[in-house]
Amino acid sequence: KSFEEAQLPDEVVECCKNFDKPSPIQSHSWPFLLNGRDFIGIAATGSGKTLAFGVPAMMHVLSKRKNKTSKKVNPLCLVLSPTRELAQQIADVLCDAGKPSGVRSVCVYGGTSKGPQISSLKSGVDIVIGTPGRLKDLIEMGVCILKEVSFVVLDEADRMLDMGFEPEVRSILGQTSSGYYSHFENLHFVIEAANSAVRQMVMFSATWPLPVHQLAQEFMDPHPVKV
Ligand code: AMP
Repeated sequence: KSFEEAQLPDEVVECCKNFDKPSPIQSHSWPFLLNGRDFIGIAATGSGKTLAFGVPAMMHVLSKRKNKTSKKVNPLCLVLSPTRELAQQIADVLCDAGKPSGVRSVCVYGGTSKGPQISSLKSGVDIVIGTPGRLKDLIEMGVCILKEVSFVVLDEADRMLDMGFEPEVRSILGQTSSGYYSHFENLHFVIEAANSAVRQMVMFSATWPLPVHQLAQEFMDPHPVKV
């Protein structure tokens, strides 16, 4: 209900200093996402969804990178967006939000030269935000390495599938850390999951058609939180 209640480090909530309180989607998503749960949000642009996943993404980076480094590192978080405009909009918010804590974000999309995007990736990045086509190209070139990605966001998932990106999305998800943490599976699985890199997944969609539902079933925890 308030930013204090969220008990987040100052350098992480600095990006919210101009807001009175978390938006409804933020107060519903933060407790679950900060606890490592998979999350499906049916929310539109304008609801504050960028920071609904952005703040937990920054916390994910900070918890995994206890020793800050300026060295080249592979990304830990991935945000997939259907369009260049949305990707850029998310990147603007996350680049700004990450400044106080030193969380670095890079945006990659098609229709522009790869050079600067490759240089940014090579300089070390925590969060990569991109459109499926360009991201797949950069993965195939070996400049975008997703094997350490353990926090994935599919933004506007319905639109992404409507635009025909399903093969790219599946192929990209296949490059990230496998598996998911389940609170409900048997102990053997939990131990196995605890010993391997596990992927936390967040999906935002304006609608909930069958192809999106199927993608969630295949790649997410069998019992994600739905809001
Ligand atoms: P988004 O849905 O992420 O595109 O955000 C829409 C707009 O809401 C942006 O201009 C944000 O700066 C703003 N916003 C994000 N979080 C909050 C909040 N907790 N209170 C008021 N405005 C917010």
